[in-house]
Amino acid sequence: MPHLSVAKFGGTSVANFDAMSACADIITADTNTRVVVLSASAGVTNYLVELANGCELSRRNDILNAVRTIQFNIIEKLQKPEMVIEKIEHYLTHIKALAESASLATSLALTDEIICHGEMMSTCIFTQLLNERNFPAVWVDVRDVVATDSHFGKAAPNDEKTVQQTNAVIKPLLEQGKVVITQGFIGRDDEGKTTTLGRGGSDYSAALLAEVLNANDVLIWTDVPGIYTTDPRIVSAAKRIDTISFNEAAEMATFGAKVLHPATLLPAVRSNIPVFVGSSKAPEQGGTWVTRDPQPRPTFRALALRRNQILLTLSSLSMLHSQGFLANVFTILAKHKISVDVVTTSEVSIAITLDKTGSTSSGLDILSDDLLAELREVCKVNVETDLALVAIIGNNLHTQAGIAKQLFETLSPYNVRLISYGASTNNVCTLVKNKEADEIIQALHSALFE
Ligand code: ASP
Ligand code: MG
Repeated sequence: MPHLSVAKFGGTSVANFDAMSACADIITADTNTRVVVLSASAGVTNYLVELANGCELSRRNDILNAVRTIQFNIIEKLQKPEMVIEKIEHYLTHIKALAESASLATSLALTDEIICHGEMMSTCIFTQLLNERNFPAVWVDVRDVVATDSHFGKAAPNDEKTVQQTNAVIKPLLEQGKVVITQGFIGRDDEGKTTTLGRGGSDYSAALLAEVLNANDVLIWTDVPGIYTTDPRIVSAAKRIDTISFNEAAEMATFGAKVLHPATLLPAVRSNIPVFVGSSKAPEQGGTWVTRDPQPRPTFRALALRRNQILLTLSSLSMLHSQGFLANVFTILAKHKISVDVVTTSEVSIAITLDKTGSTSSGLDILSDDLLAELREVCKVNVETDLALVAIIGNNLHTQAGIAKQLFETLSPYNVRLISYGASTNNVCTLVKNKEADEIIQALHSALFE
């Protein structure tokens, strides 16, 4: 079987005519890319979500105009806009009617029906753009392919049915030499209703189609040329990583790096399909390959930074030689749906970090009065804020001599509030002052990577 790549282009890659043209250049230059999954043009899904949540007439009109402007700014630059105008007008009329329904009563099913239009429109326009280059692109409604359950807003694919439908719909087109252009993010349930896989779900769609088609790889085209040793805005000497493992990438994402999380690519990870991440605006710069076991595996791979952490120190004399204190504390935290990130313990106290940005609103409200009161019934509670988690990501960090010395030497001028070392083979975590975090990242980067 010839090489098959499934490519996914994100919202910024299809935001306007020039961005879409850059994607078309990539596809036409790469004969392996024969299935293409698109997101909605940047901004469109957010607008549609607002409509789906119900809004009054004047706001509805403003949003419809904004969405129309985004799409027509692209359409105007096509050679034959008339080929798609009717279809896009039809979609816009449909959105308008659905948004009116949503203003009366919202529902999860209605929301999915509204927000699927972003991807429907971007794919329709992009297919025309490719066809104007005499490229054999065919538009496919991915709802005829991706079958899901009826969990609107975060539907789970029905793998078996998706395989059957892929064989029936996509395979014959590939055999005819066509290049399939389809939507990420959406699917259809058994009753024929539109579903979505959760925000940002296009990556998942691409990975799923790659798995079902037995593809050789998944190419994620976005707005950054791959994964870096650390945020290049903090360290200009940050280097692009050529290959990285799924595990290391997951650690980086967990600890705050804005890289794609392998969980969003689950089908590719479980089927061991390599994933490439690159910039559709600068494909010549290459990108990063994420694979199961790339070699060699360096001891130090990257540095990640998560700001705005809270440190809770819980102490109780009754923890001394007693049982169940940790269980009590974690039960309380679980009851309040608090996700704990890093934990260290001593004989009579536990220190745990919580992510302030993980809460829905800003501020300290992740620590509700109720939670604090409940904790105070079993122990003394101390809260510290304005902290940042600096994670050193790498391989076999816990089994090599000298790692601690290297880190501590670099960190010696700073007040390190907490260290977690030994739980994971892939990371060492340190908690530092927010205001020193950038400097610490710079010092560590220069010591470990430059
Ligand atoms: N358009 C959808 C979103 O904004 C899906 C995606 O971009 O992956 O969430
Ligand atoms: Mg997106």
